[in-house]
Amino acid sequence: MKVLITGGAGFIGSHLAEEHLKRGDEVYIIDDLSTGSMENIEHIKGLPSFHYYLDTVTNHHLTAELVDLCDIIYHLAAAVGVKLIVESPVRTIETNIRGTEVVLHHAAKKRKRVLLTSTSEVYGKTEKVPFNEEDDLVMGATHKGRWSYACSKAIDEFLAIAYWKEKRVPTVVARLFNTVGPRQTGQYGMVIPNFVRQALNNEPITVYGDGTQTRCFTHVNDVVGALIKLAEHPQAVGEVYNIGSAQEVSILQLAERIRDLAGSKSEITFLPYEMAYEEGFEDMLRRVPDISKISGLIGYRPKYNLDDILTSVIEYSTRKFQSGVVSNKE
Ligand code: UDP
Repeated sequence: MKVLITGGAGFIGSHLAEEHLKRGDEVYIIDDLSTGSMENIEHIKGLPSFHYYLDTVTNHHLTAELVDLCDIIYHLAAAVGVKLIVESPVRTIETNIRGTEVVLHHAAKKRKRVLLTSTSEVYGKTEKVPFNEEDDLVMGATHKGRWSYACSKAIDEFLAIAYWKEKRVPTVVARLFNTVGPRQTGQYGMVIPNFVRQALNNEPITVYGDGTQTRCFTHVNDVVGALIKLAEHPQAVGEVYNIGSAQEVSILQLAERIRDLAGSKSEITFLPYEMAYEEGFEDMLRRVPDISKISGLIGYRPKYNLDDILTSVIEYSTRKFQSGVVSNKE
């Protein structure tokens, strides 16, 4: 089988590429390295069944050619990371919407199967947990940069579903909840790589807000396994699925756990949201997925618990530190 992964040099994309290669598939990736990196694909880039194109998905010619060649298209290319989004809303909106338009447009010609990765951000400010795929999405005001990400990904979802309904292009939407694991960079604000770096350097661990906000973290290997099953499952077409874990942890507990597991002497400090992001920044207090829909379809159940996830990130970051390739920001 031939698969195309847009954003294939990103954190999740590179793990997905690796898994398909292990299965003996031919893997094609397009990545403009805006948030991905060559380092993520260093270990696979020499393989004969791996083909990479350093370009943007809005290059119609290239995307058309690769979509035509492949059996399944995973569309992961997107602007991600709350920090990046708040700082660069134009880039966020344009990257997310244009890229999806181009991919779906070309997939429509031969009705290629497309899996679009979306995000738990689309649930917005809803306070009802756990989040179910049928729930209303509660967006914030348009002058608050954060919501541009949620809205642009919601438009992507609408588009993917519309292509199925109107043009019979078999699309599936996967809403990813805080995915973590080796190779994730802290550069765009993600909490676990940041806390791990701070802990390993014995620097203060910066908890934003009061640390009572909660998240549920999923290991990238669990996510990749679920993405592949969804992409291949005939009944997933036209549907939206949460992919996440139900193990909820507060950000303060997370900081303490990372400090303990890393054997760190870091102190834990609190930083107001307006200093971490922007004035008026709104965070989600709780973000918990209802995973009954995906469990019912493919028997999904995360294999990695929070400690497994943290240990794998700490081990990875320790190795990186020892090899001296970690920049101050990562
Ligand atoms: N966070 C934090 N310190 C950091 C980075 C993030 O306290 O250095 C908080 C952030 O405000 C949020 C949570 O950790 O409440 C998860 O943040 P992340 O950006 O990883 O993902 P989000 O769930 O916000 O998309």
